[in-house]
Amino acid sequence: MSPTAPYPWLESTWRQLLGRMAADRMPHALLLTGPGGIGKLALAEALAGAALCTEPGPQGDPCGRCPSCRLHHAGTHPDQVRLTIPEDKTQILVDQIRELAGTMGLSRSMGAHRVAVLWPADAMNVNAANSLLKTLEEPPEYTLLILVTAEPSRLPATIRSRCQIVSVPLPGETDTRAWLAAQGVAAADMDVLLCMARGAPLTARALAEEGAAEHWRALVRDLAELSAGRRGIVELAEHWKGQETERLIRWIQIALWESARQALAGQTGDTRIKDLQPLAKALDLGRAFPLQDRLAEWRRLARTTVNPQLLLEDVFADLAPGRP
Ligand SMILES: [Zn+2]
Repeated sequence: MSPTAPYPWLESTWRQLLGRMAADRMPHALLLTGPGGIGKLALAEALAGAALCTEPGPQGDPCGRCPSCRLHHAGTHPDQVRLTIPEDKTQILVDQIRELAGTMGLSRSMGAHRVAVLWPADAMNVNAANSLLKTLEEPPEYTLLILVTAEPSRLPATIRSRCQIVSVPLPGETDTRAWLAAQGVAAADMDVLLCMARGAPLTARALAEEGAAEHWRALVRDLAELSAGRRGIVELAEHWKGQETERLIRWIQIALWESARQALAGQTGDTRIKDLQPLAKALDLGRAFPLQDRLAEWRRLARTTVNPQLLLEDVFADLAPGRP
């Protein structure tokens, strides 16, 4: 029995990539893209394992038993590098890339390749990206570099053009629902979680585990009250400022987008998420869509040192009635 993909919806991408590896048509650099929360990093890891295996099957499957496979599973393979943002930093830095280039240039110690998994690739600063470019231009033999990002447009075009891009698709809704149900996600929360996660199964599961559906329902109720003029801006900002601000604004973005969509589709009866109905009724549609751009800007601001209370007051003020 050959090893399967890390998640069921990744199976066809996984098989395609293994096939390329078996046919010796794997490029030196791959760029795995696709929405967040669908398992791109797990796929990159599995692929790294397949590239390291010294006794792969005819379809490219890693054997799971050779010393190289064992070390990969233990996370201690000397020919594998995992590179991400350092804990106390917000970017991937040039020194990390230089070190990576040095390691990739060494000869293999025991694996079939030297492999590096780098994520999120869009977190490289300009110097780091320039430094990586040199490695991409002259890749050492028997190396595989796997870059992972949900936002490929934030990478320099010069990097993208030197990688083979693999777009990992969002799984179909039926498959996602079946998987989430098997993971123990309550049917009553399914619609809300899928909406919050924009259909990404791993995000939806993580949200379920932290009981986020309840928070979201409370937020939507408050937004409806605010839009109807029954709640105050300062009071709401006070109440919600303890939440992680950027995520809260993203939830507001999704709630407004979905309610507006639901309000527009109201006549056709497409009101799947009942919790959104009061907000859909209270919402000024003329403002709901243009607001998305401002919410995106506020999310950017939320990543800075701005005061959360003041930021949320601005956000809520735009939703209160009587604003232009
Ligand atoms: Zn093996």
